[in-house]
Amino acid sequence: MRQQEIVIVGAGISGSVLAERYACQGKKVLVIEKRDHIGGNCFDYTDENGIIVSKYGAHLFHTNDREVWEYVNRFTIWQPWEHQVVARVDEQLVPVPVNRNTVNLMFGENLQTDQDMKQWLEKNRIPIDQPTNGEEAVLNSVGLELYEKLFKHYTKKQWDKYPDELDASVLNRIPVRLNEDGRYFSDRYQAIPIGGYTRLFERMLDHPNIEVMLNTDYADLRDDLTGFEKLFYTGPIDRFFEFKKNLQEKLEYRSIRFEFESLDMEFFQENSVVNYPGTEVDFTRIVEYKHFGNQKSSKTTISREFTVDHGDPYYPVPNPRNQQVYESYRREADKLSNVYFVGRLASYKYFNMDQAFRCSLDLYHQLEEESVVTTNTGLD
Ligand code: UDP
Repeated sequence: MRQQEIVIVGAGISGSVLAERYACQGKKVLVIEKRDHIGGNCFDYTDENGIIVSKYGAHLFHTNDREVWEYVNRFTIWQPWEHQVVARVDEQLVPVPVNRNTVNLMFGENLQTDQDMKQWLEKNRIPIDQPTNGEEAVLNSVGLELYEKLFKHYTKKQWDKYPDELDASVLNRIPVRLNEDGRYFSDRYQAIPIGGYTRLFERMLDHPNIEVMLNTDYADLRDDLTGFEKLFYTGPIDRFFEFKKNLQEKLEYRSIRFEFESLDMEFFQENSVVNYPGTEVDFTRIVEYKHFGNQKSSKTTISREFTVDHGDPYYPVPNPRNQQVYESYRREADKLSNVYFVGRLASYKYFNMDQAFRCSLDLYHQLEEESVVTTNTGLD
């Protein structure tokens, strides 16, 4: 029998923040991780070409949350990185999110000012009061042609659902710009960790009070874990209750299959991420890792991303049916004392990285009534 005070299931962002916080407070922490590495889906490594690649897809940190930004800076050094995405449409590369250049390139327009773009949108958008799903959200903001060419099929490939089967919030993640700003995000702080994300997690978890058990499924250990003060569960909430006969309805998650390829050429494509929003290919995007942080190598590594419904859960699927199923799990979760559900999979929310940091920090503060984050810089 193990005698840890704090048990944490999952060594991704949510679990690592709580582990780090409680360890600094002097608690003995046990982190149980099913995979053979820490870092969750942020995990990256240096491959045979000497390039840092992300095993589970590109992760671009961006936030307006100063406290979160200061927190992540305690553990590693970050370099500014303003992510840009282009989409391959009709044999040309156009900026995503939609901005003035996107419209000029796709429709042979010559819009010069924000006002020109505003007028173009007014002419083309289909006004819908309070869009109730992803299709209405896009039609309302950019109109039918951009919807068809950039969003409809990409979304079907990504979610195996058309935008009208998803909450408006999914498509509303992507803004529309009147100017020529080609950045994917607008946040104040945008950066990538020098040397990769794995190092960040190593430093967060490098504490004498933290024990990490890799290759360990919580379900196998559940009965041995007694006497703990608190348990934080960051895995899929429905899996936690798998043993309950009255809760059998499963939540939907999307997973990604990555096809990595090493190429004997300097660059494969001109940008780190190229989206393929059309039906001509099955994958959603190609990521060329070398671009991130301007890495040097005589070769390059790319990854094609195919979204699938089996495999490790990555994305919750936000729609009314899943929200309803989630609520039934949530009610069950609320009955437990000293067990807390936190993070993207356990909260069934499409969190960005900074939101995952924020939720864990908030939960910690709420439970420990501590407002100031203290000690452990994690830096050498
Ligand atoms: N999306 C799209 N076309 C694009 C980019 C995004 O239709 O070229 C839609 C798609 O439904 C996607 C959603 O917008 O799931 C949110 O995109 P985001 O880039 O935030 O997805 P993530 O990077 O989390 O996979």
